[in-house]
Amino acid sequence: MKEQRPAVEGWFTMDRERPQLLGTRCQACRTFFFPKEEQFCRNPECDGREFEEVPLSNKGRVWSYTEHHYQPPEPYISPDPFVPYTVAAVELAEEKMVILGQLATGVQAKEIEVGTEVQLVLETLYEDDSNDYLVWKWKPTTH
Ligand SMILES: [Zn+2]
Repeated sequence: MKEQRPAVEGWFTMDRERPQLLGTRCQACRTFFFPKEEQFCRNPECDGREFEEVPLSNKGRVWSYTEHHYQPPEPYISPDPFVPYTVAAVELAEEKMVILGQLATGVQAKEIEVGTEVQLVLETLYEDDSNDYLVWKWKPTTH
């Protein structure tokens, strides 16, 4: 039995049933950040330097999406040979932020549109002899 590990340490909880991305929130202006901001608040009207780690909403709505035909940036690792994939930009209502992620395995771009409700899932990004390395993806709640 392989160990399940995050492909990127500390970016999300490892709860397979209801995973959540981990962001930070500025203690001064209450703005959320993902990936985590821990040094200086990026709100130009705030000079906050104190941040708390917060789990983000695990559901949101598709704000935009695109099919990619080129190699994705880290932390994604491309299958070889490379196959096109769909990235969805998902808006989290409470946090008022947009999170990028690939669509879950088996979900086609034609199954989503702007406004589709999606939830966070964890899938194996790559593996070695002893570990599965997981990453977050977006899956329609009706899928
Ligand atoms: Zn702030």
